[in-house]
Amino acid sequence: MSHATSSTQGPRAVPDGSGAPAVYDLLGVGFGPANMALAVLLEEMAEASGDDGISRLFLEARSQPAWHPGMLLEGSLLQITVLKDLATVRNPCSRFTFLKYLQDKGRLFEFLNLRDLFPSRLEFNDYLTWVAGQLGGSVGYDRRVTSIAPVTSDDGGVEELEVTARSATGAERFRTRNLVVATGGVPWTPDGVEVAPEGPILHAHRFMHSIRREFPDRDAPYRFVVVGGGQSGAELFLYLLEHYPNAEVTAALRRFGYKPVDESDFTNTIFFPEMV
Ligand SMILES: Cc1cc2nc3c(=O)[nH]c(=O)nc-3n(C[C@H](O)[C@H](O)[C@H](O)COP(=O)(O)OP(=O)(O)OC[C@H]3O[C@@H](n4cnc5c(N)ncnc54)[C@H](O)[C@@H]3O)c2cc1C
Repeated sequence: MSHATSSTQGPRAVPDGSGAPAVYDLLGVGFGPANMALAVLLEEMAEASGDDGISRLFLEARSQPAWHPGMLLEGSLLQITVLKDLATVRNPCSRFTFLKYLQDKGRLFEFLNLRDLFPSRLEFNDYLTWVAGQLGGSVGYDRRVTSIAPVTSDDGGVEELEVTARSATGAERFRTRNLVVATGGVPWTPDGVEVAPEGPILHAHRFMHSIRREFPDRDAPYRFVVVGGGQSGAELFLYLLEHYPNAEVTAALRRFGYKPVDESDFTNTIFFPEMV
């Protein structure tokens, strides 16, 4: 592919100064499941058309694919059916489906034997990593986008955007005709609570990176308070009870109980294509 990049070579930056800059048809910011699903679609379109398809590049801040790595608790499960993977509902024949991943890993029959469409998050993360591995040519890892600016043409119109990313070697600039920003959520803490990179206050998104460093003694009588009544709060409460048998673990909830994900038939219809 003329625009091809790889995670080892790094993406092609727009050269400064003279020379015609490379302009992508599409640039994606972030390479989580949202932009990965888009990358899968574009890859399939390119394969079907027999050419390179539209020129594209996805810039990802992480150094490698990872799906909420700070919350990859062993035993935690996917909250929605795995058939809503990166491809199946759009194209069940795609080579990027979860079932194809299972077949490639030699786990298809074992999975079917579970009679369960809610695999562990660890396995789904492995599936995403498997897909990302096949799309490496259109992803630049270790590139955190720091600014997006319009490129104004002589007639005053804007037909391109200039995107700047920070990488290990400094700032890199890219140009694109279309931009898809899928940077995910931002960790939130209540007013007055400051989470430092190190220290006894942890945010869920870095939990697995920090918990053993900050609380190394599994048998110590630590006193934990888990703030938050959603899925993550419940999972962390359970994790602490199971991994620190002598600790006192308190759940601080705004409501009277945990709030489960609404998976009712009625609510799920908002994800039907005709609702978009
Ligand atoms: C613990 C947890 C479990 C979840 N489980 C489920 C589930 O089972 N089912 C479900 O449907 N949803 C679940 N969710 C919801 C979750 O939002 C989606 O699963 C999914 O991750 C959303 O994908 P995304 O690509 O929009 O965002 P993200 O997955 O957050 O990906 C965004 C990506 O953008 C990158 N990025 C951010 N800023 C920049 C930047 N400036 N430059 C470059 N890259 C950047 C990030 O590094 C990241 O890789 C869960 C969420 C959490 C936190």
